[in-house]
Amino acid sequence: MASNTLDALIVTCPNCAKPNRVPREKLGAGGTCGHCKHPLFAGAPITLTAANFDAHSARSDIPLLVDFWASWCGPCLQMAPAFTAAAKTLEPHIRLGKLDTEAEQAIAGRFAIRSIPTMILLRKGKEIARQSGAIPERAIVDWARRAAAG
Ligand SMILES: [Zn+2]
Repeated sequence: MASNTLDALIVTCPNCAKPNRVPREKLGAGGTCGHCKHPLFAGAPITLTAANFDAHSARSDIPLLVDFWASWCGPCLQMAPAFTAAAKTLEPHIRLGKLDTEAEQAIAGRFAIRSIPTMILLRKGKEIARQSGAIPERAIVDWARRAAAG
């Protein structure tokens, strides 16, 4: 199989939210951001805000799995360690991010979030799967992989 070095993906930096072009075959090689030198994948969910949401959800070629949560939500806090652990497994093929529905009500409203925790998988800004309720790490990984492949 011929490798095509022009087959590059846009990866949004988790630190500065600027786009980086990464050859598809180098996605898992642990590259750093060309702008701020931060690792492009740090094995942890990023914090999503109005300032970086579109850069990660719509402008990146990496699907984005968003955990809509709030600090008053017991099941959200219960699921948080599982979501963090899932980032280590799902990166670099899926980016994980957390969105505080209290701090970012406009984004929560855009996705008509009715209950939390809710996870939504986005590709190029479009919702491709949604899951409400806290689930364990293994279930997060399996569900996200199936949804991203389908
Ligand atoms: Zn950066």
